[in-house]
This record gives sequence, C-alpha cells and structure tokens, in this order.
Amino acid sequence: MADYTIVDHEYDVVVIGAGGAGLRATFGMVQNGLKTACITKVFPTRSHTVAAQGGVGAALGNMAEDNWIWHMYDTVKGSDWLGDQDAIEYMCREAIPAVQELEHYGVPFSRTPEGKIYQRPFGGHMRNFGEAPVQRACAAADRTGHAILHTLYQQSLKHKAEFFVEYFAIDLIMNSEGACQGVVALDMATGTIHRFKSHMTVMATGGYGRAYFSCTSAHTCTGDGNAMIARAGLPLQDMEFVQFHPTGVYGAGVLITEGARGEGGYLTNSQGERFMERYAPTAKDLASRDVVSRAMTMEIREGRGVGVDNDHILLHLEHLGSEVLWQRLPGITETSKVFAGVDATKEPIPVLPTVHYNMGGIPTNYMGEVINPTVENPDAVVPGLMAIGEAASVSVHGANRLGTNSLLDIVVFGRAAALRAKDIVKKEAHHAKLPKDSADLALSRLDRLRNASGSLTTAQIRRDMQRNMQNDAAVFRTSQTLKEGCDKISQVARSLEDIKVADRSLIFNTDLIEALELENLMSCALTTIIGAEGRHESRGAHAHEDYPDRDDENWMKHTLAWVGDEWKVKLDYRPVHTYTLTNEVEYIKPKARVY
Ligand SMILES: Cc1cc2nc3c(=O)[nH]c(=O)nc-3n(C[C@H](O)[C@H](O)[C@H](O)COP(=O)(O)OP(=O)(O)OC[C@H]3O[C@@H](n4cnc5c(N)ncnc54)[C@H](O)[C@@H]3O)c2cc1C
Repeated sequence: MADYTIVDHEYDVVVIGAGGAGLRATFGMVQNGLKTACITKVFPTRSHTVAAQGGVGAALGNMAEDNWIWHMYDTVKGSDWLGDQDAIEYMCREAIPAVQELEHYGVPFSRTPEGKIYQRPFGGHMRNFGEAPVQRACAAADRTGHAILHTLYQQSLKHKAEFFVEYFAIDLIMNSEGACQGVVALDMATGTIHRFKSHMTVMATGGYGRAYFSCTSAHTCTGDGNAMIARAGLPLQDMEFVQFHPTGVYGAGVLITEGARGEGGYLTNSQGERFMERYAPTAKDLASRDVVSRAMTMEIREGRGVGVDNDHILLHLEHLGSEVLWQRLPGITETSKVFAGVDATKEPIPVLPTVHYNMGGIPTNYMGEVINPTVENPDAVVPGLMAIGEAASVSVHGANRLGTNSLLDIVVFGRAAALRAKDIVKKEAHHAKLPKDSADLALSRLDRLRNASGSLTTAQIRRDMQRNMQNDAAVFRTSQTLKEGCDKISQVARSLEDIKVADRSLIFNTDLIEALELENLMSCALTTIIGAEGRHESRGAHAHEDYPDRDDENWMKHTLAWVGDEWKVKLDYRPVHTYTLTNEVEYIKPKARVY
C-alpha cells in the first residue's frame, strides 16, 4: 500500500453528514456536553435538505382540527403496513414539539393572518382516519428545507460544533467484536487522510437517488453511508422501496412539490380528464405518492399521455392565479419557467413520475441505534453506531413515505440520536486502542482506485447502472424485468473491475471521488433490485405485476440485504414491529389501502 499521511482525532461523537439530520444531531450532542465532530463532503447548507420544498408534517391543528393519532394512522397506512408502529408513534407524537422547537430556533415559516404557522394539505394526510384531506404540512413558502437547513446550521454555529467541511468519509472502523470505533475520511482539498476515533459514529449521509437516471435528488445523493454499512458486513433494509414522486418536470427531473396539488393543483391526461378521480375518489390528486405515480403510468400506458410521444401528464396550477402562485409557490413557478419553459400562471406544466426518496436504508430502532438482527434477537444493536435521516430505515416510512414526513423524520430522529447518546456515551471517556488494520479497508480502496487503469470511465459505468435501474426497477415491475435487471446490474457491478481513474492525485481529484461514489451507488443499486426481485407481492412503492396484491401473511416483514464478495447479495427478513411504544394508542391492524 502507498504511504499515506494520517492525522488522528478523538471525539466522543462523530456525525457523518451535515444535512438536516446530521446538523440536528450534531448540535444536540454538543448541547449534551459531548465532544462532537461533524464531517461533510459538501458545505453544510448545500446538503440536499436545502432543496425540500413543500413542508414538514405535524398535527398542530392551526388551520382546522387535527390530532397526532390521525397523523400516525395516515403514516401507517401510507407505509402500507411495513412501517414499525413504535417508531411511527414516536415520530408523530414528537412532531408537534419538534416543529415548535424549529420555530423557536428561528425557522421563518409562512404565517396565517393570526400569525400562526401556515399549514397546507399534502398527499395522504387526512382528518379523522382517512375522511378528507387535512392541512398538516408546515411550510415556509415552497422553500421549507432551505429555511430549516439554514436555521439548523446557525444553531450548530451558535453551539460551537466542530465541522470538517469537504471531508469525504470513506469507511468505518469496526473492531473484532463488531463495534464501531470511528471512521476514516479524506480531506479533499489537501489529500490528507484523517482517522476519527469516536465512541459513537452517526451516519447521516442521505439517500441514493443517483442510482437512477432521472431523479429529483442532488448529485451528492450517492448512498455513501449505506455502502459503508454494507462494507462493514452489516445489512441494509427494505432497499426495494424507492419512491417515485408524481411530479418531476418532464425531461429535466427537477421537482414540482406536492404542495402544488396541496394548494389546489390537479393532473389531466390527453383527454383533459382529471383522471385521479377514478383512481382515488376521496383523496383524488392528494392520494399518496405511489398511488398517484401508478395512476399516471397507467394513463400513459393506455395511450392517454400528452405530448407528441404521449409520454407525460399535465399539472394545472394556472387556475390558482398569479397572486397565490407567487406568494405560496414562488420557487416552483420559477422552476417551471426555467426547466419546462412554461409560465405556470397561464399554462399547465408537463410532468412525469421521477425517483425521489429511498424508504430503505440502514436499519435502526427509534432511538437511532443501528440494528444487526440475529436469530435470537431481531433487534440486536451494533455498539457505537447510529443512523438517522434518509440514510436510515427506522422504519417510519415502510413501503411508501408520505410527503412532509422526511423533514419531520430528520429533526425528530436527529434529536432522538442526541438524547440516546447522552444516556449511553460517557463524556471524554478513554478511547480503546484501534485495531492495527483500522485504516486498511479505506486505504486499500483508495489505492485500488488510484491505480485503476482499465478501459471504462466512471461516467460510462454510472450511466449503464442508472439506465438499467430506470428501466428495470421502475414504478411497475415484473418477474421478467426484475430478473433481467438483476443480471444486468450484476454485470455492470463486475465491470467496475475495468474502471479507469484519470489520475493518482489525492488532492482535489474529483474523478477519484466520483469513482468512490459510484462504488457506493452500486451497493445500493444491487440491494434495491435484488431485494425487489425477492419480494413476491405488491406493497407501497413496490408494484409487482405478477404479484399484484399485498400479502400480509407471507410478506409483512422487512427485507435485509448483505453485500458480499464479488457483489453477491444475500437476502433475509426480519419481522415488522406490530406493537406501539405506549398504551396511549393501539396497534393499527392491516386493512385494504384505499384513498
Ligand atoms: C427536491 C426535493 C424536495 C423534497 N421536499 C421535501 C419536503 O417538502 N418535505 C419532506 O418532508 N421531505 C422532502 N424531501 C425529502 C427530504 O428533503 C430528504 O429526505 C431529507 O432532507 C434528507 O436529509 P438528510 O439529512 O438525511 O440528508 P441530506 O440532506 O441529503 O444530507 C446528506 C449529508 O451527508 C453528507 N455526506 C454524504 N456522503 C458523505 C461522505 N461520504 N462523507 C462525508 N459526508 C457525506 C453530505 O455532505 C450532506 O451533508 C425532498 C427531497 C428532494 C430531493
């Protein structure tokens, strides 16, 4: 192995990621007196959280009667009964204080005339156990993520959290007992290697939308944390559940928030028909995302798409008037102009279901601790390791996330991780010696890629992966497309042996970083499509045409996927939590999911 300069650090806690989840955890840890470092590959306020538009869900009841138990019911139903109800109870109850806390930290929410936080309707959020849509999404115009992320960063600065900005975390340090002792990272500007020892390492690395060709996520959403977990020999959970957002701008993939339909927008097909009325008579355009995305895809398949190729759908906002649009939805009014060339105040926006969110990820309990199920204990905890935010699968979103529940997830579980760490991490306790080979996993990867002189560029392999995922792990899946998809993605993964990295430099070598990210994406792509092939039912975002029904008897269980040598994936399953946290609410039994 080449000679690397290694700089050592010691912290009580290291948080990897400075999106909403990472920042909320970071200053919570500092508040609790723990010496904490936050490592991030992009400047904190450039994390994908900044792009969130529509709102953060909480049953504040500012606009009409609401109740956190209704929110819990909607979330369980949205998850298609794959969510763990103890965690869902925790999140929906904590939503109310969490949003109030955000308000006090300084998030500039939009306001009602009386000065309360403004709330808008969102897909799948209903009053009184599914009766009619309710206004539950707390919004700062259509820039809610921007407002939240900047506020959380300000709080982190106020608490004097320590940041390592533009540091790329490569791999975890695991000891022989299976505990995590820290992480190895590369300072991308100087090329120095940094070894962080920590009593608790928190993965807050976000999703992996970039495994697909067309997605709403930032280019940085490459599933690095998920892949680090896989390389540590730990399982990923429910990776087959990938959310397609109904309204990505046709051709560009950028998002038009569901808040647009929350404000009264609606979809039409080539016949000018508001077709959602046929698919979801009660919630209509505000049914949950998997339902709307499937309905749109059916319309297109049956020849009722719009445009010269009949391959997309129209979203109407023009009837709302320019005053409402510029006040409540200024960002997307601008987006429509820039990316679709459309003046949304006058004409409809061309849209298409687009990859948006990863329900699956690193399995954790509701306190943020990573789980490594064993035969004796399906909820066994990995010492020294937590995961939060989109990287994690708590699982509050189950098979399908409701809009606004992710901004909620990141603040609630970011805070939960800090609370748990306060109880289990001893401040400035002595650090056990690191294993001799502590940096080997990370450095051998660097070595291999820096010397990679094959015939395929990172961009070529990435495009192959993205196109295959887009075609074969899409809104609808069949046994045949999945089988072919598994073969093709496995082949693309093996082609990584023939990758070429432009130069050996460690200093600001973007090609090297992209190659590291591509390997990370590949673990995510493989576990997604192989998990999907393994699941012989339809549930939430996983719509399997050969098994069109949900099968609670055989499949109400979480998928676990391990990535082994030569990209071989092994699957197993663990039970869904069919209990609540307190006796204030009862377990919500599965029933048919209609909107
Ligand atoms: C366009 C868009 C709109 C959305 N709108 C909404 C909405 O209105 N409401 C809602 O609830 N949800 C929404 N979502 C979903 C929600 O915004 C995200 O799920 C959530 O913000 C993810 O937060 P996070 O903190 O987990 O990750 P991110 O915000 O993605 O942050 C990830 C962090 O990890 C760091 N990182 C990653 N890999 C490494 C590495 N190897 N080394 C070091 N650092 C690393 C990055 O630098 C970054 O700081 C939206 C998502 C998108 C894409």
